[in-house]
Amino acid sequence: TSQFGIKEALTQLGVKDINEGTSTGLHHFANGEILESYSPVDGKLIGSVKMSTSQDYQQVIQSATEAFKTFRLMPAPQRGEIVRQFGEKLRQNKEALGKLVSYEMGKSLQEGYGEVQEMIDICDFAVGLSRQLHGLTMHSERPGHRMYEQYHPMGVVGIISAFNFPVAVWAWNTALAWICGDVCIWKPSEKTPLCGIACQNIIAEVIKENNLPEGISCLINGDYKLGELMTSDTRIPLISATGSTRMGKIVAQAVAARLGKSLLELGGNNAIIVTPDADIKMTVIGAVFGAVGTAGQRCTSTRRLIIHESIFEKVKDAIVSAYKQLKIGNPLDENNHVGPLIDTDAVKMYTAALDKVVEEGGTILVEGGVLSGEGYESGCYVKPAIALAQNSFEIVQHETFAPVLYLIKYSGDVDNALEYQNGVGQGLSSAIMTNNLREAERFLSVVGSDCGIANVNIGTSGAEIGGAFGGEKDTGGGRESGSDAWKIYMRRQTNTINYTTSLPLAQGIKFDL
Ligand code: NAD
Repeated sequence: TSQFGIKEALTQLGVKDINEGTSTGLHHFANGEILESYSPVDGKLIGSVKMSTSQDYQQVIQSATEAFKTFRLMPAPQRGEIVRQFGEKLRQNKEALGKLVSYEMGKSLQEGYGEVQEMIDICDFAVGLSRQLHGLTMHSERPGHRMYEQYHPMGVVGIISAFNFPVAVWAWNTALAWICGDVCIWKPSEKTPLCGIACQNIIAEVIKENNLPEGISCLINGDYKLGELMTSDTRIPLISATGSTRMGKIVAQAVAARLGKSLLELGGNNAIIVTPDADIKMTVIGAVFGAVGTAGQRCTSTRRLIIHESIFEKVKDAIVSAYKQLKIGNPLDENNHVGPLIDTDAVKMYTAALDKVVEEGGTILVEGGVLSGEGYESGCYVKPAIALAQNSFEIVQHETFAPVLYLIKYSGDVDNALEYQNGVGQGLSSAIMTNNLREAERFLSVVGSDCGIANVNIGTSGAEIGGAFGGEKDTGGGRESGSDAWKIYMRRQTNTINYTTSLPLAQGIKFDL
């Protein structure tokens, strides 16, 4: 690994193993058991950190609550300046952080850099937004009255994140939460704790340089039990949770039980519809990157291709032959297209999915399998597979977080394809490949895709930060990132001001004393 500069990256980011002393930054409250982080790239131990205990958690929440008292008083554009400085630090650390993401999580180096770029982009977006936290003005029905609405900071935001975007999801939340005047407590995935420490160290420098209270950004490493402390805590008005639908259903209930707010970003089961009017070359690029990028471990990964019968063979052959070109191996080596899965449990789920699709009557078109031998010592490398399947298969209805692509045939018009596309529990990302205006507009219409993201002539995978990101149904309904997603991080207040000498009541109600 040294040839790829991981050691240097860890040093630059101030991430130290517990045996080399504690990490710098704000990671003060960690007195629990040891959490070891192994790389799926080569199976080696990257570093060990201490988890936070429930006592540590109490200290963290206290520090966050205190910090909020002062941070909320800072004018929003000044908070934007803090986020601008954070974005600058991310630019300086892009290479090191991108490498750590790639090594700890297993995505390609290009995607690791891309993830850090997304953090930078959301900072830029948030800086501009810090001067645009607009409310509306309304016309009062009463003479001499003025009505308007304003947005105030809300308090402590709890962020629970998944392993597959170990740094960007945190930044999507924090960049907006900070300009909104909130403070954040982050529990990263227990599978990527070092990425958490690296990010925390970066923001810690900014906080220190600006003499701000440390509790603006808090980190707690640990498993779901720490997450549960957050979801049941009334001192956290908003929980933003990214992960599986299974987790989201538990979190949603815990937060709702105390009438807190939750922002849920859960699983997807994303499809591309390929119509007779599709550009086949574009379809192949979009579908293959969508299915095998990040080894199929993106919430927006392409899991289903719904192809019209008239072009089915042609599209199938083109995709199968593209799969033959794929190079699987160390994701830090930019010659490889596909890296490892996160761990051997994920490999088991992948293998079980391939068995299940055959059991249900599917046909394997591109053989899967677990790779072994030189370069594959971690046991986490698998071959991207393709199966011919029916949309109704139980396994097709399920999100398998691995590079398994299902080809589904449709006949007749695009409505039949839409029925398949919408006929799953999840509703995150969707796409249509067509040069036919009627089909494209139908897909985008009220009777079209039911997903939070619907693309034309682009795959399902990935998104720009300018739009609101998220999905419906089992995906949880949350929206993050661009557009007006900032509003969930603030509390809205409606104000009516009377500048007359009488007190008229609304709806003309008379109440004379
Ligand atoms: P996961 O659900 O196993 O874990 C996610 C996080 O939730 C972890 O930090 C975990 O510790 C925590 N957690 C688990 N149970 C909890 C509980 N009961 N209370 C509080 N916290 C709890 O997910 P994962 O395997 O890390 O990530 C993969 C999943 O995330 C996929 O389903 C993927 O689609 C989804 N995902 C969605 C988006 C999106 O924006 N929609 C983005 C990335 C990943």
